[in-house]
Amino acid sequence: MKKIIENTLKKVIEENSKKSATSYRIPLLGYAKAEDPLFQQLTTAGVPNHLLPTDLLPGARTVAAFFLPFTGELVKRNRQDPYVARSWAQAYIDTNGLINRCCQEIAAALDGYGVKTAWQQPTHNFDSENLRARWSHKHVAYICGLGKFGLHHMLITPSGCAGRFGSLVIDYPLPPTPRKEIEPCLFFREGKCQQCAKNCPSGALTPEGLDDRKCYDYLLEVDSFYSDLGFCDACGKCATCGPCAVIG
Ligand code: SF4
Ligand code: SF4
Repeated sequence: MKKIIENTLKKVIEENSKKSATSYRIPLLGYAKAEDPLFQQLTTAGVPNHLLPTDLLPGARTVAAFFLPFTGELVKRNRQDPYVARSWAQAYIDTNGLINRCCQEIAAALDGYGVKTAWQQPTHNFDSENLRARWSHKHVAYICGLGKFGLHHMLITPSGCAGRFGSLVIDYPLPPTPRKEIEPCLFFREGKCQQCAKNCPSGALTPEGLDDRKCYDYLLEVDSFYSDLGFCDACGKCATCGPCAVIG
């Protein structure tokens, strides 16, 4: 079943590469048991109202998360642009569509084997007051063994942090992916770096923490600036300016 998921993901990305301006490196996949206690902990620690896998799909057995890593070229463009690069904003929109297609096609492939799935949209599923997602793909990806959080509050995977996550709940048991032991963030490991905070244009990110509201207000400014593209509340300076942006 894992092979079907992996092959479907690769196929969708390959098809997408023929028609999209946004390219990706090789996707990553990770799995967790639906009854992993960390899902329950999410609802009580830090992410209030977070859904459980069984809220999305009664009979849920497994959660699968995937990471679509952006290319080094796109990362460089956003890093070098004095503002948020137009191509970065476009990539955000393109990838929202792609994540939906990945989920739809994986669901269709698994349905052929009688396996049910459920998923949440890639973004904009958060509470407008506290800005907390009801299904946080990056937290889910952490539980699925895809990486560890850095100072910038994003997940640093073995391929870096510049990319996007999607996830699905499945009613079929699959072996979980072991969670990472190694600390990938230089600040957490050695007290060094802080490139993400130093390059945050809004001042929302500091070594002391992330001001979600300040960050999101800035993302909305970017959306207004690129209003011709569609809804692009994106910035990604913290995801592109440090050594953790692209790995491997
Ligand atoms: S997305 Fe932009 S504004 Fe928000 S924390 Fe990262 S660098 Fe700062
Ligand atoms: S840019 Fe540096 S400090 Fe920030 S998350 Fe990456 S490794 Fe950690």
